[in-house]
Amino acid sequence: MTFHATVLTLYPEMFPGPLGVSLAGRAREEGTWDLEAIQIRDFAADKHRTVDDTPAGGGAGMVLRADVLAKAIDFARERMGEKILRDTGRGSADEVGGRGARGVLQVLSDERGEEPRVPLHHPADGPPPRSGEDFTVPVIAMTPRGKPLTQARVRELAAGPGVIVLCGRFEGFDERIFAGRYVEEVSIGDIVLSGGEPAALMLLDACIRLLPGVMGAASSGAEESFENGLLEYPHYTRPAEWEGRTIPEVLRSGDHAKIAAWRKLQSEVDTRLRRPDLWERHDGVRVQPASGARRETKDLDQ
Ligand code: SAH
Repeated sequence: MTFHATVLTLYPEMFPGPLGVSLAGRAREEGTWDLEAIQIRDFAADKHRTVDDTPAGGGAGMVLRADVLAKAIDFARERMGEKILRDTGRGSADEVGGRGARGVLQVLSDERGEEPRVPLHHPADGPPPRSGEDFTVPVIAMTPRGKPLTQARVRELAAGPGVIVLCGRFEGFDERIFAGRYVEEVSIGDIVLSGGEPAALMLLDACIRLLPGVMGAASSGAEESFENGLLEYPHYTRPAEWEGRTIPEVLRSGDHAKIAAWRKLQSEVDTRLRRPDLWERHDGVRVQPASGARRETKDLDQ
């Protein structure tokens, strides 16, 4: 099944951008995922195609209007529903047109013989499901005020049929859009970008590399940074000596058990030293005392 990415933006020309090359580019050509970049301005009501207005209460900058954003989101949800229905072989866009989110919900649940799971949430369907029952097609607004993006969330998204991503500009979004359209607020880090587009590219890149077949064997990713709540261990390759620096002896020992133990230790040490926040949350077995860990790290520098 194709993973459907829809981006709502004032700069559709920024897409696919970096996602048009390399792994993501090839995967898109192969139909593993598809992309639709929708111009938010097309949903403005006036002839000047106005999407923003001055902040209530005063202050600098402009704010994206909730009414315009809502029209864009409704349109994107409807189209996403049509695409998913087509994927299931349940009819052309024409046939399903007008059936809306509820119709899509019904058809998909009939198909799977399951209880409806709200694959496309529409405000007319009432409040969204509570935690534990995921939306399978979430609408995500990129904003520094959002919940920090995690690899766990990326995995959930990549396992679903797609995602609708809303990119802000200026001062951001009218707050009412989030509750009004059940939009999830997501941040890509404690930095401020000039627009949501690079953040959307990051989010999509992280999802796409996890789609089946995109990374080949490497995609199992079980050992990668964050997958087990830790940073990954460091890597080395040939030449064995470079500018007087060597590769840790254990990696050349051929002893797989020893190598695995060394990597686990490095992963724990590095997480502890570089990301105390991650280490704090990590509930794995903390078998290595800090002193032993430091000795091992020091060996690396020799
Ligand atoms: N006034 C806002 C910042 C707006 S930046 C604030 O202080 O919170 C303009 C747009 O860039 C935002 O609407 C958002 O879409 C995007 N953006 C900026 N930083 C981001 C981040 N860390 N994560 C996700 N999106 C971000």
